[in-house]
Amino acid sequence: MKQDVNPNSIDLDTLRHSTAHLMAQAVQQLFPETRLTIGPTIEDGFYYDFQRDTPFVPEDLEKIENRMREIAKQGLEIKRREISKEEAYRFFEKAEEPFKKEILDGIDSDVVSTYSQGEFTDLCEGPHVPSTKFIKAFKLLHTSASYWRGDETKAGLQRIYGTCWHNPKELKAYLLRLEEAKKRDHRKLGKELDLYTVSEEVGPGLILWHPKGARVRYLIEEFWKKEHYRNGYDLVATPHTAKIDLWNTSGHTDFYKDNMFAGMEVEGKEYILKPMNCPFHIQIYKTSLRSYRDLPLRWAELGTVYRYERSGVLHGLLRVRGFTQDDAHLFCRPDQLEDEIVKVIGFVLFILKSFGFDEYKVYLSTRPDKFVGSEEEWEQATAALKNGLEKSKLDYQVDPGEGVFYGPKIDIKIKDSLGRYWQVSTIQVDFNLPRRFAISYIGEDSRPHRPIMIHRALMGSIERFFGCLIEHYAGAFPLWLAPVQVILLPITDRQHDYAEKVRQRLAAADIRVEKDLRNEKIGFKIREAQIAKIPYMLVLGEKEAESATVAARKRRSKETRTLGLDAFMDALQDDIRNKV
Ligand SMILES: [Zn+2]
Ligand SMILES: [Zn+2]
Repeated sequence: MKQDVNPNSIDLDTLRHSTAHLMAQAVQQLFPETRLTIGPTIEDGFYYDFQRDTPFVPEDLEKIENRMREIAKQGLEIKRREISKEEAYRFFEKAEEPFKKEILDGIDSDVVSTYSQGEFTDLCEGPHVPSTKFIKAFKLLHTSASYWRGDETKAGLQRIYGTCWHNPKELKAYLLRLEEAKKRDHRKLGKELDLYTVSEEVGPGLILWHPKGARVRYLIEEFWKKEHYRNGYDLVATPHTAKIDLWNTSGHTDFYKDNMFAGMEVEGKEYILKPMNCPFHIQIYKTSLRSYRDLPLRWAELGTVYRYERSGVLHGLLRVRGFTQDDAHLFCRPDQLEDEIVKVIGFVLFILKSFGFDEYKVYLSTRPDKFVGSEEEWEQATAALKNGLEKSKLDYQVDPGEGVFYGPKIDIKIKDSLGRYWQVSTIQVDFNLPRRFAISYIGEDSRPHRPIMIHRALMGSIERFFGCLIEHYAGAFPLWLAPVQVILLPITDRQHDYAEKVRQRLAAADIRVEKDLRNEKIGFKIREAQIAKIPYMLVLGEKEAESATVAARKRRSKETRTLGLDAFMDALQDDIRNKV
C-alpha cells in the first residue's frame, strides 16, 4: 500500500504538518533542553512553538534544516498509536513535556493518539505521511517570539516558521513569490514612496496619510461617492463618538466590549469612540415616520471607526486601530431583500473591477449555533443571499455555521497580481438591530412592520484596501489613481519657462503634474521618476520648447514619443477616463 503513494497527490496540509513534526524532532536532537508545545499548519506552511530560553538564530535554522534532511533521508516510519489518556500523561511526564500534559488536561476523550518517528513522539490527531522520506521540498523561513496559548502573561516561546511543498519545483516557485511579496510589502513601499506613516507619538495602529497617500485616498473617495449617488444611494455623515446608552441599546457593550476603546466622561456621561457606524444610521432612520413606499433607503458613509486590537497583531495598513469603512446600511422590506442583494453584488463587482480586480472567491456563511431571530427569518435571508449569488452568476462556497449571530452574510475575497486572496467586501443581513432599536415602517395594511437591514462594505476599509492596492500594483498605481501622473524634466535651465507653461496647461486640465528642475543629468532624473513610479515623463529640450511639443516617455518603456502638447493631453485624458 505505502509504495503506491504518489508524492504529488499527498494532501499538502498533511505533508506540512508532518514537516512540523520533523522539525520538532530535529530541534530536540540538536537542542535537547527545548520543550514542545504545538505545531499547526498555516497558509502555505507551518510553524512550531518551542519553549527555550535563548531565541533561535539564523545559523540554528540552517543546522535544524540540515538535520531535518538527514532524518527525512533515513525514511523513518511514522507510526500512529492510540493509548489511554493516563498512559499518554505518564509518557509526557517522563519525557518532561509539561505543555503536552496541559494539552491532555483539556482533552475530554479517554483515548488519545500519538505519532512516533524514531525516538520522537508527539501528541497528535494526525493524519501524517507514512514515512519521513515523503518530506522532500521544505525550507525554514524565520523565527518570532510567541506566548503559550497566545497569552502575554503565560510562558514566552520561540516560534519557527517553515514551508513545505510536493516537490522542489513548487518550493522554488513559492520562494520566488515570497521574494516578490517582500519587494511589494506595503510597509516598505509606503515609506519609499512617502505614502503614509505610523508615529509612536500618535500611537500604534493609527495611520498618518502623507500628501501622496492622501491624494490616492481622496481619488478613491471621490470615485466612491460619485458611484454611490449614481447607484441610488444617499450619503450621510455621523460623529466619531456617542453616549454609552446608544451602545447598550445596540448590544455592543455586551458582545463587542473587548474591541472597544475605553469610555471617556463628558459632563458626567460616558461616551465611547464608535467601533461601528450602524447605530448612527438607525438614529437617522428613526427621525421620521417611514412608509413602505419610502423603502428601500440606502445610506452610505465613509465612516471612521476605532477598534481595540492588541499591539502585537497590528500590521501596517492591514490591521489598525482607527480606520474608515466604506460602509452602507440598506433598510428594506422583506419582499425587497433579494433584489437589493442582487444590486449590491453587482455594485461590489463593478467597484472591484474599477480598481483592477476581476478574480474573486465568494463565501456564503450560514446560521451559527448561537443566533438571534427566528429560523424562518434565517431561512428567508439565506435564500435571498443564495438567489442573489446565483442571479449574479457567481460561483461560491458555503461556510456552514460561519454567519454572524445576527444574520447570514456573503464575503468576497479578491485575487491580487501575486495570486494572493484578500478579504475585502462583505454583505450582511441583520434582523437584530432593527428589533433592538424598535424601528418600523408603515405597511400597505397601515400597520407597523419591521424593516430588514443590510450592512455592506465594498472595499472593507480604505486603509486595508490601500495596503492591498499598493501590493497589487507594487506601488505603480494606474494612471487614474497615481498621486503624480506626469513629471516634467527640462534638459537645461533654458527650458524652465517652457516647463512652467506646460505645467500650467496640464494643471488647468486637472492633470496631476510636477516639475524636476534640479541641475542633474536627464538620465538621472528619468531613473528617479521611474523609482517614484510616475506613469509619464515629459522630457523638454530646446527642440520641444521651439515647436510646442513634448517628448513623452511611459514609466516602463525605453522609447520616447514626440508629439504636440494637445495630442498628449487628449490621449492622457482618454486613459484617465478609461481607468487605465
Ligand atoms: Zn501533530
Ligand atoms: Zn453596520
